[in-house]
Amino acid sequence: MGSRVWARIMGAAAGLAVSLFGAAEAAGVVNLYSSRHYDTDERLYSDFETATGIKVNRIEDEPAALIARLKAEAEASPADIYMTTDAGRLWTAEEAGLFQPVTSKVLAARIPASLRHPQDLWFGFSTRARIIFHDRARVNPASLKSYLDLADPKWKGMVCTRSATNVYMISLMAAMIAHHGEAKAESWARGLWANRARTPAGGDIDQLAAIASGECGIALANTYYFARALRTRVPGLENPKDTNKIGWVFPDQDGFGAHINISGAGLLKHAPNKASAIKFLEYLASDSAQNYFAASNDEYPAVEGIAAASEVVKLGTFKADALNLSELGKNQAAAIRVYAKIGHK
Ligand code: FE
Repeated sequence: MGSRVWARIMGAAAGLAVSLFGAAEAAGVVNLYSSRHYDTDERLYSDFETATGIKVNRIEDEPAALIARLKAEAEASPADIYMTTDAGRLWTAEEAGLFQPVTSKVLAARIPASLRHPQDLWFGFSTRARIIFHDRARVNPASLKSYLDLADPKWKGMVCTRSATNVYMISLMAAMIAHHGEAKAESWARGLWANRARTPAGGDIDQLAAIASGECGIALANTYYFARALRTRVPGLENPKDTNKIGWVFPDQDGFGAHINISGAGLLKHAPNKASAIKFLEYLASDSAQNYFAASNDEYPAVEGIAAASEVVKLGTFKADALNLSELGKNQAAAIRVYAKIGHK
């Protein structure tokens, strides 16, 4: 990652070597703290470097570790941009006061309003939907048209979810609260929990694999996990006959639309390279970057009119929930409270 350059910047930011040299260097870099770690992102960064001459330095870690680091570094932080997945995580950074607003005509024009923070503290650059997957042999998808249907007692012993501590589950509940109110969301959650096939275990791929193995009849998972399983071998879904067993439903197509979330990024409050950082954010909304950014994780491009990767296209088109994703952040606490109240593990 150009550790020599990075080390100089770290030194400068720590106040050890604030100099003309540091200022000159800072004009040509953008420092990114990211919880993304896809090999295909290399092309994304190298294209930006080639086009602008601005070097992209990256620190990659888990979201919680990056947030802790940003808090500890405070105004001495060398970081310009924080990039992560899930509006709930962006909200955590927002709540910690880590972002500053970005004024950009490019971003305002290209990123749909529902996928960016109302005060432009962060922007979504790709989307994923959290949808219903099912065993084609055991479940008639005509009976699963809405997330609300997951609470129907007829699915007793059939439904698999991740742990309620997972941010994807929290954000889905946050959306249910936004649309239906906390009381209705709670009764829905009770029904969902009562229908569980097992104590929640594993990640989204494990939920899909458990459909293939017969342990679960119905499961919630993000679209990109299934697209990945179609594209390449993943644990528990090594064989095309495994994925062939699995059907999917984009819920609430006659109503609010399927619950979506984002991969996104925001400009940090103490960004030392603000102009370069805004250029980088604008670049992420460009046609070519949108392709790389979305395709690297089998997501949907945020910018309208950009085609998704072929495995993602196979899932079909759908109506996405137009709820502003900042609402998911605002309802995180209520969502956690609902799961705790009903005992969803
Ligand atoms: Fe994920």
